[in-house]
Amino acid sequence: MDFNDSPEEAAFRAEVRAWLEKNAPKRVESPDPEGGDNLAAARAWQAKKAAAGYAQITWPKAWGGPGGTPIQQVIFNQEEAKYPTPGNPFQIGLGMCVPTVAAFADDETKKRFVGPALRGEEIWCQLFSEPSGGSDVAAARTKAVRAPDGSGDWIISGQKVWTSGAQFSDFGIVVTRTNPDVPKHKGLTMFWVDMHDPGIEVRPIHQMSGGSGFNEVYFTDVRVKDSQRVGAVDDGWRVSLVTLMNERLAVGGASGAGWSEFLEAARTVSGVDGAPAIKDQALREKLADWYVQAEGLKHTRNRTMTALSRGETPGPESSIGKIVSAGVMQDLANSAIEMLDQYGIIDDPELAPLKGAFHTSLMFAPGLRIAGGTDEILKNIIAERVLGLPGDIRVDKDVAFKDLPTGR
Ligand SMILES: Cc1cc2nc3c(=O)[nH]c(=O)nc-3n(C[C@H](O)[C@H](O)[C@H](O)COP(=O)(O)OP(=O)(O)OC[C@H]3O[C@@H](n4cnc5c(N)ncnc54)[C@H](O)[C@@H]3O)c2cc1C
Repeated sequence: MDFNDSPEEAAFRAEVRAWLEKNAPKRVESPDPEGGDNLAAARAWQAKKAAAGYAQITWPKAWGGPGGTPIQQVIFNQEEAKYPTPGNPFQIGLGMCVPTVAAFADDETKKRFVGPALRGEEIWCQLFSEPSGGSDVAAARTKAVRAPDGSGDWIISGQKVWTSGAQFSDFGIVVTRTNPDVPKHKGLTMFWVDMHDPGIEVRPIHQMSGGSGFNEVYFTDVRVKDSQRVGAVDDGWRVSLVTLMNERLAVGGASGAGWSEFLEAARTVSGVDGAPAIKDQALREKLADWYVQAEGLKHTRNRTMTALSRGETPGPESSIGKIVSAGVMQDLANSAIEMLDQYGIIDDPELAPLKGAFHTSLMFAPGLRIAGGTDEILKNIIAERVLGLPGDIRVDKDVAFKDLPTGR
């Protein structure tokens, strides 16, 4: 493992730092992790990054990107995270949807989509999860059938759920069932859709945080051209793997209030006997535990960085980062709110201790443990692909979709 930047990486970091110092916002009026409330500010920041070549560093020159390396993207993200930039509603499009479309599209389609996405002019969403299939994307029931008029067009009907950012998206990629007579992974087809189509209805889901970051999306006889197909008919599973591989890298780890903020609070808040909470033995044990996990994560991240720096692709062990950091984030937030006693319920950042940082984590952590692969799914991946343990039993592997209980 290499802990230091190479000379080239150090030079790139210095260049990025200088640019951010000059251009990054120093204060954001309404920070919103889902990027909805401050869309105009997010678009302006995205356009500025695009003009400077920092919008999506790994994108090739043919797509309008600078053709940089994954390690340069990581360096930029690390430095950008030091500034209070607006939310990033473009991440799903830039990190997952557009690369998936581009991997299978002709030059004209690529050209049509990459520039506006890069500059933050068009936003994309990922329409995979359904009420019957979230972890199991291959269980999708949303149907696409050929239009009866022989035009080659398709008609899409069904329901998606948990679609982040659908309420302000211009386009989306949707996984559909085109053949129920074959096993579930073999009868899927992917399309891109215009979210402004009158047959698409977006219904926001209200979250406990008060926000509505994701949505139910209903498709009622939505007609799409065959040219909107992404990849071959019935080959949608292979196409969605391109998206899902990118998703795991994009979702990443937790970035809320951490153990050092907790330590600071524990030094000032009084415990039951009036002494600072830090004197409590049970709390000290927890702090030590979180510290060990934080250090473990740091070194796991360094391992990923080393792989990227050497031009290698990080393996399934990157699942470890999310599973550990999301769990720690939730545990830390719960303990912090409990430690703050009656002050713990104050969520107004102007009045709350530590500006209510742990409130944000408390509301965000449960979702993070589900998004981009639940704890259980990630444990399966780690067990099977990192530790080499025997695979999960998959009884539906060779059964036609229409013969499964969920396929009827
Ligand atoms: C903040 C957030 C944003 C999201 N954004 C999007 C989005 O933009 N687009 C999109 O398509 N989806 C999105 N999702 C949906 C997300 O991908 C799914 O919620 C997730 O994959 C889990 O699916 P599910 O909710 O249907 O739960 P299920 O798959 O029904 O799982 C229910 C429970 O069963 C467990 N389980 C399932 N299968 C197994 C197994 N094989 N072994 C052991 N345990 C298992 C799960 O771990 C879980 O505890 C988002 C979710 C969140 C929380």
